[in-house]
Amino acid sequence: MPPAHGSAPPIGQYILKVHGRCDLACDHCYVFDSLDQSWRDKPRLMSPRVVHTAARRVAEHAAARGLPRVRVVLHGGEPLLVGARRMRGALTILRSTIGPVARLDLVMQTNGLRLDTAMCQVLKEFGVRVGVSLDGYREANDRHRRYASGAGSFPQVQAALALLRTPDFRELYAGILCTIDLANDPVRVYEALLAEQPPRVDFLLPHATWEHPPVRHGADPTPYATWLSAIHRRWLADDRPIRIRMFEALESTGRGGPSGSEQLGADAVDLVVIETDGHYEQADTIKTAFDGAPRTGLNVFRHRVDEVAALDPVAGRQTGIDGLSPVCRSCPVVSQCGGGLYAHRYRPGSGFDNPSVYCADLRVLVDRTNEESRMHAESKPDDSGAMPSTLIEQIASGFGDEATIGWLAEQELAITRALLFAIVDQQGPSDAWDILGTVEAKSPEAVRDVLGHPYVRPWAVDRLRGGGVCRLGALAAASAVRAGIAVEVGVEAVDGVVHLPHVGTAYLPPGTSGPVRVTFDGSELVVTADAGEPIVADPSRPAPTRAWQPARQVTFPDGWAVLIEDGDPLRARHRWPVVDRLRDGEEQAWRSALTEAWRLIRAETPGYVPALRGALRTVVPLCADEDGAQRASTARHAFGSVAAALPGPADLAVLLVHEFQHGKLGALLDLCDLFDLDSDASVKVPWRPDPRPVEGVLQGVYAHAAVADVYRVRAGRDASAGQQYTKYRQWTLDAITGLRATGGLTPLGTSFVDQVEAAVLSWET
Ligand code: SF4
Repeated sequence: MPPAHGSAPPIGQYILKVHGRCDLACDHCYVFDSLDQSWRDKPRLMSPRVVHTAARRVAEHAAARGLPRVRVVLHGGEPLLVGARRMRGALTILRSTIGPVARLDLVMQTNGLRLDTAMCQVLKEFGVRVGVSLDGYREANDRHRRYASGAGSFPQVQAALALLRTPDFRELYAGILCTIDLANDPVRVYEALLAEQPPRVDFLLPHATWEHPPVRHGADPTPYATWLSAIHRRWLADDRPIRIRMFEALESTGRGGPSGSEQLGADAVDLVVIETDGHYEQADTIKTAFDGAPRTGLNVFRHRVDEVAALDPVAGRQTGIDGLSPVCRSCPVVSQCGGGLYAHRYRPGSGFDNPSVYCADLRVLVDRTNEESRMHAESKPDDSGAMPSTLIEQIASGFGDEATIGWLAEQELAITRALLFAIVDQQGPSDAWDILGTVEAKSPEAVRDVLGHPYVRPWAVDRLRGGGVCRLGALAAASAVRAGIAVEVGVEAVDGVVHLPHVGTAYLPPGTSGPVRVTFDGSELVVTADAGEPIVADPSRPAPTRAWQPARQVTFPDGWAVLIEDGDPLRARHRWPVVDRLRDGEEQAWRSALTEAWRLIRAETPGYVPALRGALRTVVPLCADEDGAQRASTARHAFGSVAAALPGPADLAVLLVHEFQHGKLGALLDLCDLFDLDSDASVKVPWRPDPRPVEGVLQGVYAHAAVADVYRVRAGRDASAGQQYTKYRQWTLDAITGLRATGGLTPLGTSFVDQVEAAVLSWET
């Protein structure tokens, strides 16, 4: 096979065939039971010389292409047949040769039969994660996974999985690979897999091509879709108790994200196999097409990985939808299906330029799982406000749909309400509290808006700690005004300012503090202090006066609106000083910049739009840095607010996305423990000179991933954005490494970080 010319995308994943034979004789195996029988001519074992040369080739390629990370999958045959001593030797070579150049993820795919404590110790020492093949319950598994004698392998595989579940080796347990057989009961298979408590399950469609189509029983034209959607429905009903790659791929691609799977979606496939004799090959699954199908004719002793990457069939796997058949390219579900597994497209005569032989099943599976997921999501709010089952996944993906973020905002509002009840318990009943109750009975939306103002909760926290003035009067007055209900209530002024959230700010003579009266007759608002003239305003009109500034709301062309908050005295809780009341020109500059920034966010990174629409309520202007450095910040407890010194619109778009990620994660942390609260670990991070605590690093990881994402989108047309993308991407990955090393993440936090990392790694370097 002659190498093609021109530069090709890099290769980041390698399947290393450390042993070429297997101690099982599964009759559905794509290595030994395929048309390609090249394994017969290959050595049983990969020698240390091949391992070393392969490792050097991988490292050389990673260095030349600047790859931050490389994944090596120890495979076979059966990799455990090499034994613990040789395994240690191979892992030592891989770590010492590739490790200094790129982060090395080591994974093993095994039948598990020879997994024992000694081997696990070696794998643990070198940080190898282990995936085990199991096809479900005993009869299901032993239908195919048998020894040459015909005996089943189920008990031995179960023992291996039990070993991986022990506290000593749990960290090695990567998941289970299950090959589908229609003869097996899907729900029983699912339950059997669930019982093994894997972190993740991969379902594999049986190997087939158009020449050798898959087995189909009965009249069902799409039995594989039927089989899988039976599991999908049960998985949803169980609230996704384990990760199932195929379903997660469909959900992610349905939201416009990557698939993270070779079987579905249009992710680039940057994978090469290295055989026991050092030959480079294409993915093993292609062995089912024809004898010699995966062959490249290149080997590690004479050829660089660059030369393999440039081969047409290898480079062609990295072109996404453009590389698919014309039928697939015009298919309405192509972004989720991606034409299925490459091997399943083979047909003599037209090669791989076809839809999958599972096309009908895949089409139905995509539509059906989309519909089932949608119905499941819609059913959740009726479950008395239960946590959305995809909350963690959605937030970890960097995004979050409007319903999920709306639910998160509801939880934040519930916390604020609880704090207000605690304040009333502490202070005793008051007119203001009674008024709030009266207004809520008539206009709950008005009270929700006011209590949902981002700076109500920080005030409540301060107040319960004995600080600040009582703000209940201001909340009552603001709620009544928004509801159009007449009111008279006492409000505390702070240094000449009376702020009514979402209504406006009255400016009394400087220094005026203490109680003032606020009256509203349904149209006219009057603020009366002991000294000075009453301030009279019409809250229905946006006209400011010297003494009254209505809330500055910016409404964008798509109808969404935020407040430019420059009146609330409680907003001054950011790292930098806030701007005092904006002058006219300044306000206009903010309005223009926000409008353009929102247009850019919608155009460039629409995935962030639902969450921002769902919960960003205020933008607080900060004083500019004298040297022109950017300033932006969020305040803990002030969910829904971002503060920034005014940059240009393109930078403001980045800041809004970046800072709002902190708010989202903060809200999630109010509900879930992602890290050990007692951990005093700290991590050196690339973006700060001082070591940061675990929570700070977690926040940085999450926000910087989003910043990288924005610059990633801009990188194609702007070289400096490309540099920013590379920088933030690397910062994120480095900080994730540091976070993991602290041991301070909870299992949920580990899963969250894994998902953030998976999203980042799915982006091109
Ligand atoms: S459903 Fe069929 S036509 Fe559509 S992308 Fe998948 S394999 Fe191609």
